[in-house]
Amino acid sequence: MPAACYALAAAMKPKDKGHHMFLDAKTCYTALLARDARFDGRFFVGVASTGIYCRPICRARIPKEENCSFYASAAAAEASGFRPCLRCRPELAPGLAPVDAESRLARLAAQGMEADGLSDLTITGLANSLSITDRHLRRVFAGEYGVSPIAWLQTRRLLTAKQLLTDTSLPVIQVAMDAGFGSVRRLNALFRTHYHLSPADFRKTRGTGHDPASPITLSWPTDRLSRGKPS
Ligand SMILES: [Zn+2]
Repeated sequence: MPAACYALAAAMKPKDKGHHMFLDAKTCYTALLARDARFDGRFFVGVASTGIYCRPICRARIPKEENCSFYASAAAAEASGFRPCLRCRPELAPGLAPVDAESRLARLAAQGMEADGLSDLTITGLANSLSITDRHLRRVFAGEYGVSPIAWLQTRRLLTAKQLLTDTSLPVIQVAMDAGFGSVRRLNALFRTHYHLSPADFRKTRGTGHDPASPITLSWPTDRLSRGKPS
């Protein structure tokens, strides 16, 4: 273990006596090597060679052990003169409470899917953008919303498609693209599975709406996004 880490561990001992002990440097570095998501939010690593601090799950190159110092909070890392990593974005790190951490991650994932405009997005890309693994994302998402990110995304796309079919006279292929399905075939398949109708038949039952050139407003339900424990 490098001198800096020993010094940190030694410095923390008297101060933390009688309190919950912060993780030791060895544990932190091991978690860092594994990019262990269970430690996300539990410590931050300051890298002396770059002046940057990161979350343990950062996808950037793992720093040498002798350049690392470990902090229990982003604030502590900042107070020691480190700047936040732009890649893993320490400000997104979950809080110490596992429940808060998971519902926050799930909400960030849902917001990411919203912000993406429902196109060109994969769950892997989303997980990468949050610096967590696919598996971790699926687990926290199911915990918060009761469905997988894929199912949630499909529902959003279907609702968008329904709205476009109802409110515009855009061709079905355009509806498929705008709603993020990627192809008419995929829109048709999901539409039939969920509504037992083709998009064209669904539109007939609703009648076509506005001129496609006229502006429309999409209003997606946000109840799921805002659902959460009162703070
Ligand atoms: Zn980072």
